Amino acid sequence: MSAFSHLLLDGVSRRFGGQDALTDLDLTIGTGEFIALLGPSGCGKSTALNCLAGLLPLTRGSIWQDERRIDTLPPERRGFGMVFQSYALFPHLTVRANIAFGLRMRRLPKEEIRRRTAEAVRLVRLEDHVDKLPGQLSGGQQQRVAIARAVVFEPSLVLMDEPLSNLDAKLRLEMRTEIRRLHQSLGLTTVYVTHDQEEALSLADRLVVLREGRVQQIGSPRELHTRPANWHVADFMGYRNLWRGRVQRRDGSRATVESSGQRLHGEAVGDSADGADVVVAVRPEDIRVDGAGGTTNALSATIEVVEYQGRELAAEARTDTGQSLHLRTEQRIAPGDQVKLAIDPRRLLVYPAGGTADIDRRADASAATR
Ligand code: ATP
Repeated sequence: MSAFSHLLLDGVSRRFGGQDALTDLDLTIGTGEFIALLGPSGCGKSTALNCLAGLLPLTRGSIWQDERRIDTLPPERRGFGMVFQSYALFPHLTVRANIAFGLRMRRLPKEEIRRRTAEAVRLVRLEDHVDKLPGQLSGGQQQRVAIARAVVFEPSLVLMDEPLSNLDAKLRLEMRTEIRRLHQSLGLTTVYVTHDQEEALSLADRLVVLREGRVQQIGSPRELHTRPANWHVADFMGYRNLWRGRVQRRDGSRATVESSGQRLHGEAVGDSADGADVVVAVRPEDIRVDGAGGTTNALSATIEVVEYQGRELAAEARTDTGQSLHLRTEQRIAPGDQVKLAIDPRRLLVYPAGGTADIDRRADASAATR
Protein backbone atom coordinates (compact mmCIF):
# COMPACT_ATOMS: atom_id res chain seq x y z
CA MET A 1 0.00 0.00 0.00
CA SER A 2 1.26 3.44 -0.83
CA ALA A 3 2.49 5.91 1.77
CA PHE A 4 0.09 8.46 3.19
CA SER A 5 0.39 11.94 4.54
CA HIS A 6 -2.03 11.47 7.45
CA LEU A 7 -3.72 8.69 9.29
CA LEU A 8 -6.82 9.89 11.13
CA LEU A 9 -8.53 8.08 13.97
CA ASP A 10 -11.93 9.66 14.44
CA GLY A 11 -13.86 8.76 17.59
CA VAL A 12 -12.51 5.21 17.53
CA SER A 13 -14.38 3.20 20.17
CA ARG A 14 -14.62 -0.44 21.12
CA ARG A 15 -16.89 -2.16 23.60
CA PHE A 16 -16.67 -5.72 24.84
CA GLY A 17 -20.02 -7.07 26.09
CA GLY A 18 -21.27 -3.75 27.47
CA GLN A 19 -17.84 -2.69 28.80
CA ASP A 20 -16.04 0.22 27.18
CA ALA A 21 -12.44 -0.80 26.41
CA LEU A 22 -11.70 2.27 24.27
CA THR A 23 -13.78 5.44 24.05
CA ASP A 24 -13.59 8.20 21.44
CA LEU A 25 -9.93 8.02 20.46
CA ASP A 26 -9.22 11.01 18.19
CA LEU A 27 -5.70 11.11 16.81
CA THR A 28 -3.99 12.35 13.67
CA ILE A 29 -0.71 10.62 12.87
CA GLY A 30 1.62 12.33 10.40
CA THR A 31 3.78 10.30 8.07
CA GLY A 32 7.11 9.36 9.65
CA GLU A 33 5.88 9.96 13.19
CA PHE A 34 6.63 7.62 16.07
CA ILE A 35 3.61 7.50 18.37
CA ALA A 36 3.58 5.66 21.69
CA LEU A 37 0.31 4.52 23.25
CA LEU A 38 1.02 4.48 26.95
CA GLY A 39 -0.94 3.57 30.04
CA PRO A 40 -1.43 1.06 32.81
CA SER A 41 -2.59 -2.50 32.21
CA GLY A 42 -6.15 -2.67 30.90
CA CYS A 43 -6.31 0.98 29.78
CA GLY A 44 -7.11 0.03 26.17
CA LYS A 45 -3.72 0.28 24.44
CA SER A 46 -3.84 -3.11 22.71
CA THR A 47 -7.49 -2.58 21.84
CA ALA A 48 -6.53 0.66 20.06
CA LEU A 49 -3.67 -1.05 18.22
CA ASN A 50 -5.82 -4.01 17.19
CA CYS A 51 -8.51 -1.64 15.89
CA LEU A 52 -5.84 0.06 13.78
CA ALA A 53 -4.48 -3.28 12.57
CA GLY A 54 -7.94 -4.50 11.58
CA LEU A 55 -7.85 -7.39 14.04
CA LEU A 56 -10.80 -5.90 15.95
CA PRO A 57 -13.83 -4.23 14.35
CA LEU A 58 -14.72 -0.80 15.78
CA THR A 59 -17.93 -0.37 17.72
CA ARG A 60 -18.02 3.29 16.73
CA GLY A 61 -15.85 5.78 14.84
CA SER A 62 -13.73 5.51 11.71
CA ILE A 63 -10.10 5.37 10.53
CA TRP A 64 -8.87 7.24 7.48
CA GLN A 65 -5.69 7.07 5.47
CA ASP A 66 -5.76 10.48 3.83
CA GLU A 67 -9.15 10.51 2.01
CA ARG A 68 -9.60 6.76 2.12
CA ARG A 69 -11.64 5.04 4.82
CA ILE A 70 -9.75 1.94 5.97
CA ASP A 71 -11.49 0.63 9.12
CA THR A 72 -13.75 -1.45 6.91
CA LEU A 73 -10.79 -3.19 5.21
CA PRO A 74 -9.44 -6.57 6.38
CA PRO A 75 -5.95 -6.50 7.97
CA GLU A 76 -4.11 -7.74 4.87
CA ARG A 77 -5.56 -4.94 2.74
CA ARG A 78 -4.33 -2.24 5.13
CA GLY A 79 -0.71 -3.16 4.39
CA PHE A 80 0.58 -2.53 7.92
CA GLY A 81 3.57 -4.31 9.47
CA MET A 82 3.09 -5.81 12.91
CA VAL A 83 5.44 -6.79 15.72
CA PHE A 84 4.09 -8.44 18.86
CA GLN A 85 5.40 -9.36 22.27
CA SER A 86 5.51 -13.02 21.22
CA TYR A 87 7.73 -13.04 18.15
CA ALA A 88 5.48 -15.49 16.30
CA LEU A 89 8.27 -16.74 14.01
CA PHE A 90 7.96 -19.96 12.00
CA PRO A 91 10.16 -22.38 14.00
CA HIS A 92 10.98 -24.62 11.01
CA LEU A 93 12.09 -21.75 8.73
CA THR A 94 15.51 -20.12 8.78
CA VAL A 95 15.94 -16.46 9.66
CA ARG A 96 16.19 -15.60 5.98
CA ALA A 97 13.08 -17.62 5.07
CA ASN A 98 11.12 -16.09 7.98
CA ILE A 99 11.95 -12.61 6.76
CA ALA A 100 11.23 -13.44 3.13
CA PHE A 101 7.94 -15.19 3.92
CA GLY A 102 5.65 -12.18 3.49
CA LEU A 103 7.31 -11.26 0.19
CA ARG A 104 6.86 -14.80 -1.14
CA MET A 105 3.19 -14.71 -0.18
CA ARG A 106 2.89 -11.51 -2.18
CA ARG A 107 4.53 -13.31 -5.11
CA LEU A 108 7.20 -10.68 -5.68
CA PRO A 109 9.90 -11.49 -8.25
CA LYS A 110 12.71 -13.71 -6.89
CA GLU A 111 15.41 -11.09 -7.36
CA GLU A 112 13.40 -8.48 -5.50
CA ILE A 113 12.73 -10.90 -2.63
CA ARG A 114 16.45 -11.58 -2.39
CA ARG A 115 17.37 -7.90 -2.46
CA ARG A 116 14.77 -6.76 0.06
CA THR A 117 15.46 -9.64 2.43
CA ALA A 118 19.21 -8.95 2.39
CA GLU A 119 18.51 -5.28 3.08
CA ALA A 120 16.22 -6.08 6.04
CA VAL A 121 18.78 -8.55 7.44
CA ARG A 122 21.41 -5.84 7.25
CA LEU A 123 19.14 -3.27 8.92
CA VAL A 124 18.62 -5.45 11.98
CA ARG A 125 22.26 -6.64 11.91
CA LEU A 126 21.59 -10.35 11.57
CA GLU A 127 23.99 -11.03 8.68
CA ASP A 128 25.80 -13.71 10.68
CA HIS A 129 22.62 -15.58 11.57
CA VAL A 130 20.60 -15.86 8.35
CA ASP A 131 20.81 -19.65 8.12
CA LYS A 132 19.85 -20.35 11.73
CA LEU A 133 16.45 -21.46 12.96
CA PRO A 134 14.61 -19.25 15.49
CA GLY A 135 15.30 -21.79 18.26
CA GLN A 136 19.04 -21.17 17.79
CA LEU A 137 18.69 -17.42 18.45
CA SER A 138 18.55 -15.32 21.62
CA GLY A 139 15.34 -13.49 22.52
CA GLY A 140 16.74 -10.20 21.24
CA GLN A 141 17.79 -11.77 17.94
CA GLN A 142 14.36 -13.38 17.52
CA GLN A 143 12.72 -10.01 18.08
CA ARG A 144 15.03 -8.53 15.43
CA VAL A 145 13.81 -11.17 12.99
CA ALA A 146 10.22 -10.22 13.86
CA ILE A 147 11.04 -6.56 13.23
CA ALA A 148 12.81 -7.33 9.94
CA ARG A 149 9.80 -9.36 8.86
CA ALA A 150 7.52 -6.43 9.60
CA VAL A 151 9.58 -3.82 7.77
CA VAL A 152 10.72 -5.93 4.81
CA PHE A 153 7.73 -5.08 2.66
CA GLU A 154 8.09 -1.36 3.38
CA PRO A 155 4.71 -0.97 5.08
CA SER A 156 3.07 2.43 5.33
CA LEU A 157 2.67 1.91 9.07
CA VAL A 158 4.35 -0.37 11.62
CA LEU A 159 2.38 -1.43 14.69
CA MET A 160 4.30 -2.71 17.70
CA ASP A 161 2.63 -4.18 20.79
CA GLU A 162 5.01 -4.34 23.77
CA PRO A 163 7.74 -5.81 21.52
CA LEU A 164 10.42 -5.69 24.22
CA SER A 165 8.55 -7.02 27.22
CA ASN A 166 9.92 -10.57 26.93
CA LEU A 167 13.52 -9.38 26.99
CA ASP A 168 15.76 -8.86 30.00
CA ALA A 169 16.62 -5.33 31.14
CA LYS A 170 19.93 -5.04 29.25
CA LEU A 171 18.53 -6.34 25.97
CA ARG A 172 15.50 -4.09 26.28
CA LEU A 173 17.79 -1.09 26.37
CA GLU A 174 19.80 -2.33 23.38
CA MET A 175 16.70 -3.09 21.34
CA ARG A 176 15.20 0.26 22.25
CA THR A 177 18.17 1.97 20.64
CA GLU A 178 17.87 -0.41 17.70
CA ILE A 179 14.21 0.45 17.15
CA ARG A 180 14.96 4.16 17.36
CA ARG A 181 17.84 3.75 14.89
CA LEU A 182 15.65 1.82 12.48
CA HIS A 183 12.93 4.41 12.73
CA GLN A 184 15.39 7.19 12.02
CA SER A 185 16.97 5.46 9.06
CA LEU A 186 13.74 4.23 7.46
CA GLY A 187 11.41 7.03 8.59
CA LEU A 188 8.64 4.47 9.06
CA THR A 189 5.45 5.71 10.66
CA THR A 190 5.17 3.72 13.86
CA VAL A 191 2.56 3.16 16.56
CA TYR A 192 4.09 1.52 19.60
CA VAL A 193 2.21 0.18 22.62
CA THR A 194 3.93 0.08 25.99
CA HIS A 195 3.19 0.43 29.70
CA ASP A 196 6.77 1.55 30.31
CA GLN A 197 6.91 5.34 30.51
CA GLU A 198 10.69 5.46 30.13
CA GLU A 199 10.51 3.39 26.95
CA ALA A 200 7.77 5.62 25.56
CA LEU A 201 9.62 8.84 26.46
CA SER A 202 12.85 7.66 24.88
CA LEU A 203 11.32 6.34 21.64
CA ALA A 204 8.34 8.42 20.66
CA ASP A 205 7.88 11.79 18.98
CA ARG A 206 4.45 11.97 20.62
CA LEU A 207 2.83 10.04 23.43
CA VAL A 208 -0.83 9.24 23.88
CA VAL A 209 -1.63 8.48 27.51
CA LEU A 210 -4.73 6.36 28.06
CA ARG A 211 -6.63 5.61 31.23
CA GLU A 212 -9.73 3.45 31.40
CA GLY A 213 -10.06 3.60 27.63
CA ARG A 214 -9.95 7.39 27.39
CA VAL A 215 -7.19 9.70 26.21
CA GLN A 216 -5.78 11.69 29.12
CA GLN A 217 -3.15 13.62 27.22
CA ILE A 218 -1.38 13.72 23.88
CA GLY A 219 1.98 15.46 23.76
CA SER A 220 5.72 15.41 23.21
CA PRO A 221 7.95 13.57 25.69
CA ARG A 222 8.97 16.93 27.17
CA GLU A 223 5.37 18.07 27.62
CA LEU A 224 4.40 14.80 29.27
CA HIS A 225 7.47 14.81 31.48
CA THR A 226 7.29 18.39 32.67
CA ARG A 227 3.58 19.15 32.56
CA PRO A 228 1.23 16.21 32.88
CA ALA A 229 -2.36 17.30 32.23
CA ASN A 230 -3.85 15.77 35.37
CA TRP A 231 -2.65 13.94 38.45
CA HIS A 232 -3.36 10.51 36.94
CA VAL A 233 -0.94 11.25 34.11
CA ALA A 234 1.52 12.73 36.63
CA ASP A 235 1.27 9.53 38.66
CA PHE A 236 1.99 7.49 35.57
CA MET A 237 4.88 9.73 34.47
CA GLY A 238 6.85 9.20 37.66
CA TYR A 239 5.51 11.89 40.01
CA ARG A 240 5.56 9.42 42.88
CA ASN A 241 4.72 12.00 45.51
CA LEU A 242 1.02 12.74 45.35
CA TRP A 243 -0.32 14.56 48.38
CA ARG A 244 -3.79 15.84 49.14
CA GLY A 245 -4.05 19.53 49.89
CA ARG A 246 -6.26 22.61 49.82
CA VAL A 247 -5.61 25.86 47.96
CA GLN A 248 -5.01 28.79 50.31
CA ARG A 249 -4.36 31.31 47.60
CA ARG A 250 -4.27 31.25 43.83
CA ASP A 251 -2.53 33.97 41.88
CA GLY A 252 -2.39 33.29 38.13
CA SER A 253 -0.62 29.98 37.73
CA ARG A 254 0.87 30.18 41.22
CA ALA A 255 -0.87 28.41 44.07
CA THR A 256 -0.21 28.29 47.78
CA VAL A 257 -1.43 25.03 49.22
CA GLU A 258 -1.87 23.64 52.69
CA SER A 259 -0.98 19.96 52.78
CA SER A 260 -0.49 17.88 55.94
CA GLY A 261 0.07 20.98 58.02
CA GLN A 262 2.72 22.37 55.63
CA ARG A 263 2.43 25.42 53.45
CA LEU A 264 3.65 24.69 49.94
CA HIS A 265 4.07 26.89 46.89
CA GLY A 266 3.63 25.49 43.41
CA GLU A 267 2.37 25.78 39.85
CA ALA A 268 -1.32 25.19 39.34
CA VAL A 269 -2.27 23.07 36.34
CA GLY A 270 -5.97 23.34 35.51
CA ASP A 271 -8.78 24.93 37.51
CA SER A 272 -8.38 25.09 41.26
CA ALA A 273 -9.66 28.23 42.99
CA ASP A 274 -9.10 29.35 46.58
CA GLY A 275 -10.36 26.66 48.95
CA ALA A 276 -10.36 23.90 46.32
CA ASP A 277 -9.26 20.37 47.15
CA VAL A 278 -6.13 19.57 45.18
CA VAL A 279 -3.44 16.98 44.63
CA VAL A 280 0.17 18.11 44.86
CA ALA A 281 2.55 16.17 42.59
CA VAL A 282 6.35 16.09 42.91
CA ARG A 283 8.98 13.84 41.34
CA PRO A 284 11.37 12.11 43.76
CA GLU A 285 14.35 13.66 41.92
CA ASP A 286 12.93 17.16 42.39
CA ILE A 287 13.20 17.02 46.17
CA ARG A 288 16.55 18.46 47.23
CA VAL A 289 18.14 16.99 50.28
CA ASP A 290 20.75 19.64 51.07
CA GLY A 291 18.16 22.24 52.06
CA ALA A 292 19.88 24.70 49.75
CA GLY A 293 16.57 25.87 48.30
CA GLY A 294 16.08 28.57 50.97
CA THR A 295 12.90 28.80 52.99
CA THR A 296 10.38 28.20 50.17
CA ASN A 297 8.95 24.69 50.38
CA ALA A 298 11.48 23.75 53.09
CA LEU A 299 10.59 20.55 54.91
CA SER A 300 12.23 18.80 57.86
CA ALA A 301 12.10 15.04 57.61
CA THR A 302 13.54 11.79 58.88
CA ILE A 303 14.92 9.24 56.40
CA GLU A 304 13.19 5.89 56.89
CA VAL A 305 14.25 3.55 54.08
CA VAL A 306 17.21 3.83 51.67
CA GLU A 307 17.73 1.80 48.49
CA TYR A 308 21.04 1.81 46.64
CA GLN A 309 20.49 2.45 42.91
CA GLY A 310 23.94 3.01 41.46
CA ARG A 311 24.86 6.67 41.31
CA GLU A 312 21.77 7.65 43.25
CA LEU A 313 19.93 6.57 46.34
CA ALA A 314 16.18 6.21 46.41
CA ALA A 315 14.73 6.91 49.83
CA GLU A 316 11.51 7.16 51.74
CA ALA A 317 11.28 9.84 54.37
CA ARG A 318 8.66 11.22 56.73
CA THR A 319 8.24 14.92 57.39
CA ASP A 320 7.88 16.25 60.92
CA THR A 321 4.20 16.75 60.15
CA GLY A 322 3.81 13.05 59.26
CA GLN A 323 3.80 13.22 55.43
CA SER A 324 5.52 10.27 53.81
CA LEU A 325 7.60 11.06 50.71
CA HIS A 326 9.85 9.52 48.09
CA LEU A 327 13.11 11.15 47.05
CA ARG A 328 16.21 10.44 44.98
CA THR A 329 19.58 11.87 45.75
CA GLU A 330 23.30 11.53 45.20
CA GLN A 331 23.90 12.62 48.80
CA ARG A 332 24.89 9.99 51.31
CA ILE A 333 21.94 9.44 53.59
CA ALA A 334 21.00 6.65 55.96
CA PRO A 335 17.87 5.57 57.80
CA GLY A 336 17.35 7.72 60.90
CA ASP A 337 19.05 10.82 59.45
CA GLN A 338 17.30 14.12 60.07
CA VAL A 339 17.35 16.10 56.83
CA LYS A 340 16.29 19.47 55.49
CA LEU A 341 14.43 19.09 52.22
CA ALA A 342 13.46 21.69 49.66
CA ILE A 343 11.28 21.66 46.56
CA ASP A 344 11.55 24.22 43.75
CA PRO A 345 8.03 25.72 43.44
CA ARG A 346 8.24 25.36 39.64
CA ARG A 347 8.55 21.61 40.13
CA LEU A 348 5.63 21.27 42.51
CA LEU A 349 2.48 20.85 40.45
CA VAL A 350 -0.98 21.48 41.86
CA TYR A 351 -3.93 19.63 40.29
CA PRO A 352 -7.68 19.69 40.88
CA ALA A 353 -8.45 16.68 43.15
CA GLY A 354 -11.20 14.64 41.43
CA GLY A 355 -11.05 10.93 42.32
CA THR A 356 -8.54 11.28 45.15
CA ALA A 357 -9.89 8.10 46.73
CA ASP A 358 -7.37 6.37 44.42
CA ILE A 359 -4.54 8.16 46.20
CA ASP A 360 -5.70 6.81 49.55
CA ARG A 361 -5.86 3.32 48.08
CA ARG A 362 -2.32 3.73 46.74
CA ALA A 363 -1.09 4.94 50.12
CA ASP A 364 -2.74 1.95 51.84
CA ALA A 365 -1.15 -0.43 49.34
CA SER A 366 2.34 1.00 49.77
CA ALA A 367 1.94 0.96 53.58
CA ALA A 368 0.91 -2.70 53.38
CA THR A 369 4.03 -3.63 51.41
CA ARG A 370 6.42 -1.91 53.81
P1 ATP B 1 -2.26 -4.69 28.89
O1 ATP B 1 -1.12 -3.74 29.02
O2 ATP B 1 -2.53 -5.45 30.16
O3 ATP B 1 -2.19 -5.55 27.66
P2 ATP B 1 -4.09 -2.86 27.55
O4 ATP B 1 -3.97 -1.44 27.94
O5 ATP B 1 -3.48 -3.28 26.28
O6 ATP B 1 -3.58 -3.79 28.73
P3 ATP B 1 -6.54 -3.91 26.49
O7 ATP B 1 -6.01 -5.27 26.22
O8 ATP B 1 -6.75 -3.00 25.35
O9 ATP B 1 -5.65 -3.17 27.57
O10 ATP B 1 -7.92 -4.07 27.29
C1 ATP B 1 -8.75 -2.97 27.62
C2 ATP B 1 -9.98 -3.50 28.36
O11 ATP B 1 -10.77 -4.30 27.49
C3 ATP B 1 -9.65 -4.38 29.54
O12 ATP B 1 -10.57 -4.11 30.59
C4 ATP B 1 -9.82 -5.77 29.01
O13 ATP B 1 -10.20 -6.66 30.03
C5 ATP B 1 -10.95 -5.59 28.00
N1 ATP B 1 -10.82 -6.56 26.89
C6 ATP B 1 -9.81 -6.61 26.00
N2 ATP B 1 -10.02 -7.60 25.09
C7 ATP B 1 -11.19 -8.18 25.43
C8 ATP B 1 -11.97 -9.25 24.89
N3 ATP B 1 -11.58 -9.93 23.80
N4 ATP B 1 -13.12 -9.56 25.51
C9 ATP B 1 -13.56 -8.89 26.59
N5 ATP B 1 -12.87 -7.85 27.15
C10 ATP B 1 -11.71 -7.51 26.59
